[in-house]
Amino acid sequence: MGGYDPSPKKEYVIEKRVAIVTGASRGIGRAIAMRLAADGRHLVGIARNTDQLEALRVEIAAAGGSCEMHSCDVGDGLALAAAIEEVAERLGRLDIIVNNAGITRDGLILRMSDEDFDDVIRVNLRSAFVACRTAARPMMRGRFGRIINLGSVAGIMGNPGQANYAAAKAGLIGLTKSIAKELGGKGITANVIAPGFIDTDMTSSLPAALREAVLPAIPLKRFGVANDVAAAAAYLSSDEAGYITGHVLSVDGGLAM
Ligand code: NAP
Repeated sequence: MGGYDPSPKKEYVIEKRVAIVTGASRGIGRAIAMRLAADGRHLVGIARNTDQLEALRVEIAAAGGSCEMHSCDVGDGLALAAAIEEVAERLGRLDIIVNNAGITRDGLILRMSDEDFDDVIRVNLRSAFVACRTAARPMMRGRFGRIINLGSVAGIMGNPGQANYAAAKAGLIGLTKSIAKELGGKGITANVIAPGFIDTDMTSSLPAALREAVLPAIPLKRFGVANDVAAAAAYLSSDEAGYITGHVLSVDGGLAM
């Protein structure tokens, strides 16, 4: 790895802004991937499920978008860094990264195993750290960058049964604000999107009683949909959002107020 080269790249291999989205195979990540591709980005989707990634590739291509997919476990830091480096090197640029891949391993603190704590930290927080560290160099070279990390209302409010998940999501806020301060001078912004209850695979397994109990606490009186989050990601990753950094944008129908 060489030192930081302050001179902007004169020629890009690809004219479109290159956007990596992790956890692109389904749910919120898929919606973000579709939206960024529709907005004219060259979309690089990362996840483990190759069938779902292929379905996404076909859908983006059919809509006239430009994309490529990479199967990678973001919990494997070396593999994730290698995938990001390869993309940035081959395409000569990396403009946007959305660290969205996430898992839950819920349980009350008295019964939570070390493994369930470590897995959630590794996949939700450590992966974002590795991705940001790897993405920073090509973004600095291009003197432009949009880093978006997917937090959660749980990282702001805490949530019983989710000590591991809330710790990881709160950690993402500290990570993001630190990066925002470190990289701001290079034209790179870093922000968190903190969704509330969004209808995806992650929330479909929640007991109906819990879902019903939460609804009255949401001022907008509905659960969110993945496109609610994708719209926020599209804005924060746009050129015109260049004066917003270190921000935690709740997309939660007002739940965390
Ligand atoms: P989801 O439907 O469960 O999808 C999770 C995505 O992450 C999938 O694409 C999955 O792909 C990927 N992923 C998980 N582990 C991975 C790994 N080790 N390596 C690579 N990819 C991995 O979840 P979601 O609801 O869309 O949530 C997306 C993000 O939003 C997460 O960070 C979540 O914490 C956050 N969030 C969601 C909600 C909500 O209400 N849904 C609320 C707050 C925050 P593969 O299985 O193919 O690898």
